[in-house]
Amino acid sequence: MAGPNKQIAVSGIQASGNLHIGNYIGAIKQFVELQDKYKMFVFVADLHAITVPQDPEKLQAQTLDAVYTYLACGLDPEKTTIFIQSHVPQHTELGWILNTITPLGELERMTQFKDKAKIDKNSLFDLEQLIRLENAKYKAIERSEGSIKEIKEIKIDITTTLSEILEELKNRGRTTAGLLNYPTLMAADILLYNPDAVPVGEDQLQHLEFARMVARKFNTRFGETFKEPKALIQKEGARIMGLDDPIKKMSKSATSANNYIGILDSEEEIRRKIKIAVTDSGKEIKFYPKTKPAISNLLIIFSQMADIPVPGLEKKYAGKTYAEFKSDLADALVVALSPIQIKYKALTKDSESVLKILRNGADRARDAAALTMHAVRQKVGLLAH
Ligand code: ATP
Ligand code: MG
Repeated sequence: MAGPNKQIAVSGIQASGNLHIGNYIGAIKQFVELQDKYKMFVFVADLHAITVPQDPEKLQAQTLDAVYTYLACGLDPEKTTIFIQSHVPQHTELGWILNTITPLGELERMTQFKDKAKIDKNSLFDLEQLIRLENAKYKAIERSEGSIKEIKEIKIDITTTLSEILEELKNRGRTTAGLLNYPTLMAADILLYNPDAVPVGEDQLQHLEFARMVARKFNTRFGETFKEPKALIQKEGARIMGLDDPIKKMSKSATSANNYIGILDSEEEIRRKIKIAVTDSGKEIKFYPKTKPAISNLLIIFSQMADIPVPGLEKKYAGKTYAEFKSDLADALVVALSPIQIKYKALTKDSESVLKILRNGADRARDAAALTMHAVRQKVGLLAH
């Protein structure tokens, strides 16, 4: 077990689907490296997963799968407290309290919320502004200002904008409060354990900054309670891009499984997905993220999974074809993932031991969380029970 004076680190992964090499490179690899240095809390975020619709039966399987994967990747329950988010009710309790001090606008501007809710504008206020602008254009038409051609163009412009506004309003109507409030629950996930550090991929930096902001707000209003933890981000590989679209990050919830290499993908699947992965124009295998985003992404994946620096790979594949490079990359992925898959299989045959790990983990996490909640409840003025 970690000593009492060790720094604390906390992180989690959503049980929202197949864990992929982006999760591995950006998050899990760091967890495994940090567990000797830090007192670590690592959980499976099932409550976050349900911020988008999940099939209840699949969700249970996905939750357990994530735990097996953590263990197969090298998380050690002797060193790291491994648990399921919903087994520690203090996460939702603190999440609620943090909601009450969070300005709505801060939630509405979060990139992940806008991406997942398919909302482009920052707030309803922005939409109001837009409608006012369109109204002014419409008034100009009514006054018959400008030539017929200009008026026609304005009409097309207004119709397009109005249909965009309508689509956005529809998406807002479909969006749940859970998706909007994701960051307050994540702030609770973190602040409950008073960590010094939070290892995450780059996409979660904004949410971590949000957690720090909420901690400050709470401290200002109720007195010093929470530390503001720092983000731990990989120097390379903090943002692995989708294989089918190198402009968007690789995601469990991508519409196509060709977006990612799952940690548990079979050799055949890995080879197939790498073969059809998008490439850039030209022939050179060079790390130019701006002009060659697809090849640069594949180079980072190769480098991270095979532990070879990118310049070494560039040298090795100078003058070689994309096909040769991809074939070797697929080999490297198979070599790196197969030991994890073998461990995963063995663990699934011993589910009782894994459930025991989760019970112990939840006990330890609840103890730590209860201490924080005791202080929080007192500061907020909730009657003791
Ligand atoms: P979802 O699509 O359901 O949001 P996800 O693939 O984004 O799933 P999360 O569970 O949201 O995965 O994130 C878990 C951890 O993995 C976080 O620390 C996140 O920053 C990291 N991560 C997710 N995607 C990537 C990626 N493409 N590259 C590097 N790190 C990533
Ligand atoms: Mg995500």
